[in-house]
Amino acid sequence: MIHENLAQILMAIAQTAKKVGRNPEDIKLVAVSKMVGVDLMRQAMENGQMLFGENYLQEAAEKISFFPPGITWHFIGHLQSNKAKQAVELFDVIETVDRWKIAKALDNQSKILKKKLSILIQINTGREKQKSGVLPEEAETLLHQIAQETDLHVLGLMTIPPFFLDPEKSRPYFRELRELAKRFATLNLFADNTHVELSMGMSNDFAVAIEEGATFVRVGTALFGARNL
Ligand SMILES: *Cc1c(COP(=O)(O)O)cnc(C)c1O
Repeated sequence: MIHENLAQILMAIAQTAKKVGRNPEDIKLVAVSKMVGVDLMRQAMENGQMLFGENYLQEAAEKISFFPPGITWHFIGHLQSNKAKQAVELFDVIETVDRWKIAKALDNQSKILKKKLSILIQINTGREKQKSGVLPEEAETLLHQIAQETDLHVLGLMTIPPFFLDPEKSRPYFRELRELAKRFATLNLFADNTHVELSMGMSNDFAVAIEEGATFVRVGTALFGARNL
């Protein structure tokens, strides 16, 4: 089952990329495995999936030890600064940095652990009160401060738009993220301003996200099935 789901998703990624003239290899699938057991995750790994996204530190700590070192782990959940140490120990990329306090805590811990940490800045493109993410108009200041005062490797931007049943409705938010990234790259705010990562798109809207420039798509349900809470 995982095998078929994975093949279908990779096929859809490749087809969508080609349709808009993009190289399919520029789009990486983040297998979102929150609340998914190690057995299903291992099935994905055995079929070639080497990149996973987790939302909860405790759950991730328990599961990551079952996997070989070649797997890449992205943290995609809400992060508190008092958990920075564990986050840096466990993850290769933190996708959800949205305020200076978190950036500073991650920088401190990565220096202590002598680990080069990569991050994405999470943008609240939908300006939803309950959602994490820095507001678009406040992102430049945050990026400047991170570039000037930390050794964090800022790969690009991430967003979770408001939920819509119709994936077309996500498009303006994805487009806004791409345009922000373009502007910030001209200001040299990223680690590599010629190649900026955009983490956007989930199970129901990853095709639209790819059309708008996504380089990471974060897919859970379409790969592993519905999560039982
Ligand atoms: C759960 C989650 C996903 C995956 O959502 P699906 O709809 O199951 O594909 C992607 N991104 C984030 C930040 C999530 O929390």
